[in-house]
Amino acid sequence: MAAERVLRWYEDLRGRELMGFELKEKFSAWGVTDCFCDFDDSLVGTKGVFGVATSDVGQILFNRARALGREISFASAEEVARECLKYIHGLRSQFSVDRPVTLLSVLLTARHLGLGDKDEEVGRASDRMARVYGEDIPDVFPGARETVAALRDSGINLVLATHASPEWTRIKLGGTGLAGCFKGVVCFDVRQPKANQWRSHFPILERDPTRVLVIGDNYWGDIFPAVSLGARGAWINGDQAFSVDSSTGDGRDFSDRVITAHSVGDVVEAILRA
Ligand SMILES: [Mg+2]
Repeated sequence: MAAERVLRWYEDLRGRELMGFELKEKFSAWGVTDCFCDFDDSLVGTKGVFGVATSDVGQILFNRARALGREISFASAEEVARECLKYIHGLRSQFSVDRPVTLLSVLLTARHLGLGDKDEEVGRASDRMARVYGEDIPDVFPGARETVAALRDSGINLVLATHASPEWTRIKLGGTGLAGCFKGVVCFDVRQPKANQWRSHFPILERDPTRVLVIGDNYWGDIFPAVSLGARGAWINGDQAFSVDSSTGDGRDFSDRVITAHSVGDVVEAILRA
């Protein structure tokens, strides 16, 4: 596994030096001076945090509905949790995932179970969900710390670029110990379409898109908008099946500027191989 190779490389001083040097050469050949790296589900498992929270919410609401003898169409707490997650996903496409969206999802799920907004257990479920933004710290993916360190060692200007709020990002960076790994942190204004976010940020950051490498797990959010402006992309595509060259939809083929990596631990390997 390439991810293991990055871990091994990084434990060895010679390996580290070599990796930093090779990356530097590659970036210089590409003319790339800046790297914008996504955070949630690229470096850390934010989906996992939501999975645990919605599971707890499902349990609380299911128990309450049963205790009150409500006629419900859900057979288990897991089904209630799935319903809550469905609301989050549905609302996310329009409003991004922020605190109001997740709390609204709890209230809508509760109503589906015949529970009112003022019910104290619904309040408890809302409080549980709110912890996502305060106390729950996502796991750092294997190889993420080493990948970030390797990119930094290469001398590239490494910036964290995220669609989450500054406050939540600060908490997650502190909790994961990744604060201080980046030269800067950009929290995009999510009230505008993703393409506009990138288009308006490149000039603000005084960055030429053609000198930028973006790294992220969301092809349409992190990679496509930046690459269509001239950047290079490293798409962490996990098990997603669709291929980059057939995905642009408008006939443009960016496959020569987008590389894919299965996980964040594979990103360095994928860059060096390109
Ligand atoms: Mg992401």
